[in-house]
Amino acid sequence: MDNVNRRDFMKSIAAAGALASVPAQAAESNDGGPVFLATWKHGLPAVNRAAEVFHQGGSLLDAIEKGINIPEEDPEVTSVGYGGLPNSEGTVELDAGIMDGTRHRAGAVTGLRGVKTPISVARLVLEKTSHTTIGGIGLQEFARNMGYHPEQLLTPNSLKKWMEWKADPHHQTFWLSPENHDTIGVVATDGKGHIVAGCSTSGLAWKIPGRVADSPLVGCGFYADDRAGGASATGDGDLMTNYCTSVSIVHMMGRGASPQEACEELLRDMVKAIPKNKVAACAVIAMNTRGEVGAASMNPQFHLQYALWKSGKSQMLDSKDVY
Ligand code: ASP
Repeated sequence: MDNVNRRDFMKSIAAAGALASVPAQAAESNDGGPVFLATWKHGLPAVNRAAEVFHQGGSLLDAIEKGINIPEEDPEVTSVGYGGLPNSEGTVELDAGIMDGTRHRAGAVTGLRGVKTPISVARLVLEKTSHTTIGGIGLQEFARNMGYHPEQLLTPNSLKKWMEWKADPHHQTFWLSPENHDTIGVVATDGKGHIVAGCSTSGLAWKIPGRVADSPLVGCGFYADDRAGGASATGDGDLMTNYCTSVSIVHMMGRGASPQEACEELLRDMVKAIPKNKVAACAVIAMNTRGEVGAASMNPQFHLQYALWKSGKSQMLDSKDVY
């Protein structure tokens, strides 16, 4: 962003009484190479795989898709893909989306059953159709047409957890406090200004069948625009959908905010709108077209650790808790 835009943005948030602090990593500039950023601990193998695919000649879309496939196929990750906790009826329903910042176009799937790698089906929606989001019976048919044969996504662990939940007469439901959040969200640049963002999740554990939250919705769970940057969100998707988190962050970067400022400002804005959002489970990551990154969590109770691959090495970092 040029300095004028940045100054305007800073003035606008200062006027609103919300000038964000900038942690060290946000100010670090990139060396001009590719950068891969992902949510949570399972983001680390994902960014490593994404970097590997990219360096072997894959596109940024290939890199993100293959990176996200790692936690999707890992039965130990109970919030993404195979092994993800099921809905209230004991069926695993997966959401995913991927967006190409050059074409300004996304592909997404919601409530996908029987396929371990929903990000790959989302990619097929992007590449093989002129639709953006597919769900319901038609999605199952689409996946079958694309060569996917239904597989069992419950693992002994997720089945046991669902049976325990079901057997508990006082079990928590979606009406009470949400549990088991942890979407994999990835944002990446090739170092030349191209941005791709994507995410994949099994969503809220014990959700009502058919629930659609932020992860499969363009601009909510993920967003990418080569004119500004990309973002992804994790946490209470029922809440965050109402704030169009990812597109809001990208637009703030477009007006001159750094990725860190934009992440923090989005969370502050949610609290300005509704003060009790301060205790909500929400976290966001962002990257601008220069490969600078930001990450913020609403509070320490939902503290986001994120993975960053940059200049040939990857590491886990702590996001800033805003409240
Ligand atoms: N946002 C996802 C959802 O609400 C879950 C998560 O990110 O933890 O479905």
